Amino acid sequence: MTNTKAVIPGSFDPITYGHIDIIERSADRFEEIHICVLKNSSKSGTFTVDERIELIKESVKHLTNVVVHQFSGLLVDFCDEIGAKTIIRGLRAVSDFEYELRLTSMNKKLNSDVETFYMMTSTNYSFISSSVVKEVAAYKANVSDFVPEHVAKALNKKFNK
Ligand code: ADP
Repeated sequence: MTNTKAVIPGSFDPITYGHIDIIERSADRFEEIHICVLKNSSKSGTFTVDERIELIKESVKHLTNVVVHQFSGLLVDFCDEIGAKTIIRGLRAVSDFEYELRLTSMNKKLNSDVETFYMMTSTNYSFISSSVVKEVAAYKANVSDFVPEHVAKALNKKFNK
């Protein structure tokens, strides 16, 4: 059975070139990509969910088959709601593996119909994470190699007010 919808979940606090790379490559392989900003993540956010969504929308506006959502609840319930059976996650380093294994095993247990696919980071982006970018921005260093211009501006505004 084929399924044309894939969900890319995450905190996206904020979106980076690492995320965008995974989104672009997935958008090339699936008919519809649904980015899902999960509101009940245990991580407390720097940007509000609405701010993150605006930053994501601006970053993916060149991709016609990508939609951005927010959801509070279980990811597998979101997948059910929109009729998606595929989750896509990015993998950077071995350190991501253990967390991802736990997450995927739990999602599989909750809904065995939903499969998680992993995509390796492009080497250029392997060291980029939202948290490292925020740390760099907080020290007023240039983040333009890691995030698009509008995200760099938002980071500047957040940390230099
Ligand atoms: P979460 O809090 O759920 O881990 P993130 O916003 O940090 O959400 O990441 C969302 C997804 O994007 C995750 O699958 C993560 O591994 C992936 N990701 C983040 N940064 C990169 C990167 N530089 N290269 C590849 N994948 C990445």
